Amino acid sequence: MMTSIRLEQTRSASRLARHAGKRIGLVPTMGALHEGHLSLVRAARDRCDLVAVSIFVNPTQFGPNDDFARYPRNLDRDCQLLEQEGVDLVFAPSVTEMYPPGAITFVTVEGMSEKLCGHSRPGHFRGVTTVVTKLFHIVEPDLAFFGQKDAAQVAIIGRLVRDLQMAVEIVVCPIVRDPDGLAMSSRNAYLHPRQRKRALLLFRALDRVQQVFAQGETHAGKLIEAGKQVIAEEPSVQLDYLEIVNPETLDTLEIVSSSALVAGAVVVGTTRLIDNIVLARSG
Ligand code: AMP
Repeated sequence: MMTSIRLEQTRSASRLARHAGKRIGLVPTMGALHEGHLSLVRAARDRCDLVAVSIFVNPTQFGPNDDFARYPRNLDRDCQLLEQEGVDLVFAPSVTEMYPPGAITFVTVEGMSEKLCGHSRPGHFRGVTTVVTKLFHIVEPDLAFFGQKDAAQVAIIGRLVRDLQMAVEIVVCPIVRDPDGLAMSSRNAYLHPRQRKRALLLFRALDRVQQVFAQGETHAGKLIEAGKQVIAEEPSVQLDYLEIVNPETLDTLEIVSSSALVAGAVVVGTTRLIDNIVLARSG
């Protein structure tokens, strides 16, 4: 069975492949893989000669009250799935491997890291950009694949790569949803059947925003209000935020045009879920 390899092995396997003229793709994940992750792997397979997948539940992107300890972990199953997908290399480091004792260096995209999820999860994006920078240094991929599911992460990593002039192309893959529309997430495993139904409310709220926009409404405040009404139908679902922003800068918009990003987060029970859509004129 496919097994994961250590940091130095990963670095040298990747270097060897590069010297052999191979194009290297990296798919960073936190494991507990689902079809959303596998869509990234398939996109990498299509465009690269060597596909590396990292599996690392990154402690620095979790706050003290977040779910780091109980986050689902199943490395054997993940490795099996990745083997079936023809992945060449699985890198699943330990925390001390990724953060040598005493490490005090972090990477922050200032001004963007506090937006959307960064507002309610202080330090989250600092953890993400730090670990992604480390992974890029270890694997040195030509391309790295991320899901639109985490739209703020995509914007912030895009800015990280631009500002630090990293030689990696960021490829963004569409959100993979369950048949009823719920965005796939490793955290969906936390949901009881009744909560699973309620979780769909966020997608319905985003859909309502799209409908109202398609009817001609362009004021962000009114669009958000329409979305919030949907969430309010179910008092057990707590809204963290629902915002309409520029997808590249994450700045909030007052007047909205197509291609604006509508992003939201809700808490169902103790599970925090995110989702987003990009507005389209003829939605
Ligand atoms: P995670 O393991 O949740 O950190 O996710 C790893 C990568 O998979 C990130 O780039 C996510 O955006 C992406 N991803 C997670 N869920 C989905 C989904 N439902 N559709 C597409 N990409 C996803």
